Amino acid sequence: MLLRFLSFVVFQALGALAGWYLAAPAAAVKFSLLGLVVGGLCWFVVDMTRSLRLQHWLRKGDMSDVATVSGVWGEIADRARRLVRAKEQALRDSQNRLHEFLLALQASPNGVVLLEAQGHIEWFNQMAGTHFGLDAKRDMLQHFSNLVRDPGFASYFAAHDFKSELDMPGRDSTPSRPVKLSVQLYPYGEGRLLLLSRDVTALEQADAMRRDFVANVSHEIRTPLTVLAGFVETLQTLPLNESERVHYLALMSTQAQRMQSLVQDLLTLSRLEGSPPPSFSERVNMPTLMRQLQEDGASLSSVLTGGLDKAHVLVFDAILDCEMTGSGHELLSAMSNLLSNAIRYTPAGGGIRVRLALLPDDRVEFSVRDSGPGIAPEHIPRLTERFYRVDRSRSRDTGGTGLGLAIVKHVAQRHGAELHIQSTPGKGSVFSIVFPNNRVNLSIA
Ligand code: ADP
Repeated sequence: MLLRFLSFVVFQALGALAGWYLAAPAAAVKFSLLGLVVGGLCWFVVDMTRSLRLQHWLRKGDMSDVATVSGVWGEIADRARRLVRAKEQALRDSQNRLHEFLLALQASPNGVVLLEAQGHIEWFNQMAGTHFGLDAKRDMLQHFSNLVRDPGFASYFAAHDFKSELDMPGRDSTPSRPVKLSVQLYPYGEGRLLLLSRDVTALEQADAMRRDFVANVSHEIRTPLTVLAGFVETLQTLPLNESERVHYLALMSTQAQRMQSLVQDLLTLSRLEGSPPPSFSERVNMPTLMRQLQEDGASLSSVLTGGLDKAHVLVFDAILDCEMTGSGHELLSAMSNLLSNAIRYTPAGGGIRVRLALLPDDRVEFSVRDSGPGIAPEHIPRLTERFYRVDRSRSRDTGGTGLGLAIVKHVAQRHGAELHIQSTPGKGSVFSIVFPNNRVNLSIA
């Protein structure tokens, strides 16, 4: 301010001096006063010009074209420029933060929709676009209820009670491939709404599977238990002779064995699901395993057919001399399940052929071919489901639990192998497990 005042005084002094110098001696005082006024006016014009340049620059608002103004106006320009720069930087920072925040919402596995007070869409992420079939270009600022026309959602939205989640069908839901969404609205800010959506189809399916499984297990256990309880009551209440007692006790033992096998298979399945995949360090000698399989198969066949003369014709040929890396216990369990199925479902005297062969692509195939009743094609894709049976009574009569092929499939998967089923009704079936070559060691041959 002092400088400004001094410059004003200097202008006036220069004006006065010029008046004094230029005027005749008699009029020197008068001209000096006139010079003083003119000097003051000049200062005012210069000052005005500077302030106008500054005003022009401020109006243009172009930071790159900086107004070069000196003096106090220059200082004001400098301060204004710094303030605007700081504001611009703050704006850029908050824009970057907003961008990162939206990227984070975009990466969310859940659908996110931001709705303004009236329910118009302000923003949504790609997942919400997939869940509700929204298009970023077409649907922005549209009313959400106009685009998502599910009646359940319409009444949820209208009721304005968002304390709980709403389950509704997803956009691509069809009766054969249902898609279930869980949706909830959260009020925020001034009447705005945040909508979160989750695809709960897999959860629902897992829940349904768990319910089915529990129901199946209960049913499988209840039947032998009811029979056992009935026999116990008979033994307690009726005066039976020795041969009747023996008969009833034998029937009770069969039911108890049935429950035992079921519990054993359930434990095997849960072990298979809960343990890490078999390592590559354990080596299983396949010819030894095949010999054990043959002995077990022969005794099962004679038990089921009631004597060696009626037993099945069991042939083990082309047994590859090799080692397999994996769990010997699991491999034996899977292979004996396939063999015992062949024995149980093939009528007495039927032929069963077991092979362990090297395929042209160096994989190894274990196969069991039987001359049994065969399986109709529509059943084949479902055979490895737990408790799925084509012929319930045949399965139960021969001690089946309905879990054998589920165990085989698990063991195969854990060893990186594939389970193949070929069958012709009336002619027989071939069940085979094809092992990858990284599990096979042929060097012992
Ligand atoms: P189960 O204990 O009932 O044998 P599995 O899971 O081992 O259960 O087999 C499922 C169903 O597949 C059986 O109930 C049976 O109907 C059918 N199945 C399995 N193996 C054979 C076979 N070799 N021949 C005919 N049907 C078979």
